[in-house]
Amino acid sequence: MKEEDLIPVYYIKRFHFCPRTVYFEAVLGYKEYEKEYMIEGSEEHESEELKLNRRKNVFPYSGEEVLESWNNLELKSEKLGIVGKVDSIVKTKNATYLIERKNSLGHKKPNKDHLYQAMAYVLLAEENLNIKIDYIKLHYLKNDKIFTIKIDQALRKHVLWTIEKIKEIIDKAYLYPYIKLPYCEGCGFADICKYFR
Ligand code: SF4
Repeated sequence: MKEEDLIPVYYIKRFHFCPRTVYFEAVLGYKEYEKEYMIEGSEEHESEELKLNRRKNVFPYSGEEVLESWNNLELKSEKLGIVGKVDSIVKTKNATYLIERKNSLGHKKPNKDHLYQAMAYVLLAEENLNIKIDYIKLHYLKNDKIFTIKIDQALRKHVLWTIEKIKEIIDKAYLYPYIKLPYCEGCGFADICKYFR
């Protein structure tokens, strides 16, 4: 499989936000309009990674001793057909965690689209590093909200299903029907979406 045929993991987040966005980017080559907060946010993201690197022996989310850690890993899997960059993985005596940071506000529950994206990173990391990951930590940097999610079979299966659905959009150039969503107005694909209703 050629590198350019692999699906970037952020498409999994996109699919769960709205599957039409995958069509606009992957099939039509349209790029999402980048909002100002996204540019500011990337600086916060880097400073969190620095914090983790400075405290090499202590896992800041639990105070446990770090046995092994990996940061900013560019990984791919031909078997799954995906490619992406993992923020951090930390192994302690009790468990192994995948950490995914978001430059946004956290709410009462973790966003499903972020959770599925993180789960795809788990699958990539497990295959490439030959490890088993037990938990996902989703860290929302804007209000320091942190969720710990135990990984189970249902989560794994749902992400594999999502990857298949994304492949279908790309291979069959399939555009999901338009349904007005509460967040359409803030969508970075709204400009092109209006021509395909
Ligand atoms: S504007 Fe709404 S329907 Fe169109 S791509 Fe964005 S979220 Fe989906």
